[in-house]
Amino acid sequence: MADNLTPAQRSYTMSRVRSTDTTPELVVRRLSYALGYRHRLHRRDLPGTPDLVYPCRRKAIFVHGCFWHGHGCSRDRTPASNRTYWNAKRRRNKERDRRNQARLRALGWKVLLIWECELRNRERLRKRIISFLGEKPACGSAIYHRAIW
Ligand SMILES: [Zn+2]
Repeated sequence: MADNLTPAQRSYTMSRVRSTDTTPELVVRRLSYALGYRHRLHRRDLPGTPDLVYPCRRKAIFVHGCFWHGHGCSRDRTPASNRTYWNAKRRRNKERDRRNQARLRALGWKVLLIWECELRNRERLRKRIISFLGEKPACGSAIYHRAIW
């Protein structure tokens, strides 16, 4: 994809990749871990390679950057130049996301989408994760073992 980009576009792309695709996922991973849930990362055998996977619960979480995945919130602003390029790209991402989530659900998985902008309210995010995964950490999680001690 990089071949037909100007240097400015490329550096813009790279900055978005760093700020939207890496950090938010780390935040969610740390939170999930701190809550006592044990996840696997990026299971490639599942549609869309979910960011966090909880195999024994058959649940998966995607952490989406608002720009790349076209959230439509205030963080999701198309750069002034090459709007057509970015919009087409993001439309493709959105379509792919929808397809992958539908496939995952068809395989019996439950899916939670977390948007980058939702990380601003950590308390609400914490509650969303707990209500999605269930109150009690299960499947031999660390909290379960700690409770025994
Ligand atoms: Zn957003």
